[in-house]
This record gives sequence, C-alpha cells and structure tokens, in this order.
Amino acid sequence: YNAKKSGKNQYRTYQPSTQLPAPSPFLLHDLYEAINHDSLTVLYQPIMNITTNTVTAAEALVRWKHPKLGLISPNLFIPLAEEMGMITTIDIWMIRQACKQIDRLMRLKLASIRISVNISVKSLYKPNFAKCVIAILEEFSLPPHSLVLEIREGVFMQKESVVISNLQELQGYGISFSIDDFGTGYSSLASLERIPAQTIKIAKSFIDCLPSPGYGTIITSTLLSLAQQLNMTVIAEGVESVDQLTYLKEHACQYAQGFLISPPVIASHLEQMLSYQLQKTDFILPTNTT
Ligand code: C2E
Ligand code: MG
Ligand code: MG
Ligand code: MG
Repeated sequence: YNAKKSGKNQYRTYQPSTQLPAPSPFLLHDLYEAINHDSLTVLYQPIMNITTNTVTAAEALVRWKHPKLGLISPNLFIPLAEEMGMITTIDIWMIRQACKQIDRLMRLKLASIRISVNISVKSLYKPNFAKCVIAILEEFSLPPHSLVLEIREGVFMQKESVVISNLQELQGYGISFSIDDFGTGYSSLASLERIPAQTIKIAKSFIDCLPSPGYGTIITSTLLSLAQQLNMTVIAEGVESVDQLTYLKEHACQYAQGFLISPPVIASHLEQMLSYQLQKTDFILPTNTT
C-alpha cells in the first residue's frame, strides 16, 4: 500500500510485483537463517465489529525482515516455506507470538480481544500439531477461545485422517477456526463441511466489487445469507472504502477488516488503538478513504 499514507507505525511491505526474486538457493538459505535467528516479525490487523464500531479481534500477519530486501511479504516466502517443509516452524512461532501478545493485552487490561493466526494446511498434516498449539496456550494459561486459527483449505487435502484428528483435538480444547479467503480457489464450499469453523472470511476479491451490481456483489450477498443460515459469523476482508462498508452494514455483515479500518500495524500501535477505544467506548473510523 501507499507508503505516504502508512505513517510511522507501519512498515512498508515489499512489493513482489515489482521485484520478485526467484526462489534461488540463496534466498532459501536466507529464509532458513531467518527462521532460526529471529528475523521474522508480526504485524496485527484489527478486525472490527461494524455494528458496534469496536475492535474485537486482530489478525497476526508474519513479515520477514530481510537485511537487504527490507520487509518481505508472506505471499512471497510462505509458499517457499511450504515447499521446504519449514512452514510449521513458522506457524508455531506465530502462534507463540500471538499468545504472548494476548497475554500482554490481558495484563494491560486493554481488552479481551481474540487474535487469529494463519496456519497452512500442511501444518495440519503433522500428527502432533494440535498438541503443540494446546501446550502453548497452557504455557500462558490463556482461555482457548482467545486464539483463532485461520485456514485456507487449499486445492488438495491429503492425510485426511491426521487433519481431522488435529482439527477435532483443537476444537475439543476450545480453539476456534475461520475459513480464510472463502469463495476463492483456496477455500471451496466443501471446506464448510471439512473444517469445524465458526467464521468465514469473505475474500477481498469479492469485497473489491462492492457495491456495484455484478458477480462480486451477488456472491458477497449470497455468502452473507449462506453464513446466516449456517449460523456462522462473517468477516469481510480487504474493506477499503466507505461505500463497501455501507453495503456490508446494510447486508447484515457483522465484521470487517481492511485498510479503511486499519492496515496491519505493530503491536504497540494495536495497544494504542485498544486503549483509545477503552477511553472513548466508541471507536472512530478514519475519515480518509482509499
Ligand atoms: P490473508 O490471511 O488473507 O491476509 C490478508 C492479507 O490482505 C494480508 O496480506 C493483509 O495485509 C492484506 N490486506 C488486509 N486488508 C487489506 C486491504 O484493505 N487492502 C489490501 N490491498 N490488502 C489488505 P499479507 O500480510 O501480505 O498476507 C498475505 C497472506 O499470507 C495472508 O493472506 C495469509 O494467507 C498468508 N500469511 C500471512 N501470515 C502467515 C503466517 O503466519 N502463516 C501462514 N501459513 N500464512 C500466513
Ligand atoms: Mg502483502
Ligand atoms: Mg488470514
Ligand atoms: Mg484472507
């Protein structure tokens, strides 16, 4: 996004479109080093209840602080990490960071917000994945519902019995799930049956089309009524304009996430927003639109 608008509390993301390095052995080596030497960092993007105008959750998004390339977008290195079998190390590291942050927010008495972490389906192929996640929650004595795992089903679901037993164990403990990028090739209607999720996140590609009449808008309104009938919660992703937000409110969407509300920010900025919200009771939407 626009660096000028992003202010000093946000990082500029490395733009893959302008300068995509091929997955060279050199980059792979760097990624290996990054994972082992704390060169990853986390940004948090607020998720807002748009009926009450309060931030009730935040999504943790990983960034790689590369010494020469700056902050690298996960779109660039997550696929590499998946290929190299390093994704679960990242996912578990992110869950630990998120739990630390939830613990900190609780100590600061800022708010009892939930934090969601993206996990790769490949992590669910690991037989001990659920146990690792539960152990982290126990280490920090956190209420299980404070952690949400976002899953993009992906085109192929392998090792189905391992995936199912991980999901059941996590769900049994009280951890909840969101289906990420719902409606795209990553998460099909079939994922509703496979993933015991309480929430669907409508992909930005559909939200982008709002409110003009057309496919994207029809799909969004259909997904909203589908979710309602399934008694599921909906988060609209990538909300950038007041017109989109108005449409979503008029169609009974409860939650939104996007640059209109806030880009992903560093933890201290999230804490500032939450303490401001506590004082004001009513969170003020930014007036600038993108
Ligand atoms: P996602 O989970 O769908 O996350 C939303 C992405 O949309 C984020 O990109 C966020 O910065 C961006 N975004 C949010 N609001 C807006 C908006 O209004 N406009 C625009 N243009 N973009 C917006 P990001 O952080 O680059 O992450 C990309 C993807 O990488 C994520 O998509 C997620 O699938 C994956 N990812 C991120 N962190 C992790 C992680 O820790 N583990 C795994 N396995 N995947 C991750
Ligand atoms: Mg990005
Ligand atoms: Mg996500
Ligand atoms: Mg998404």
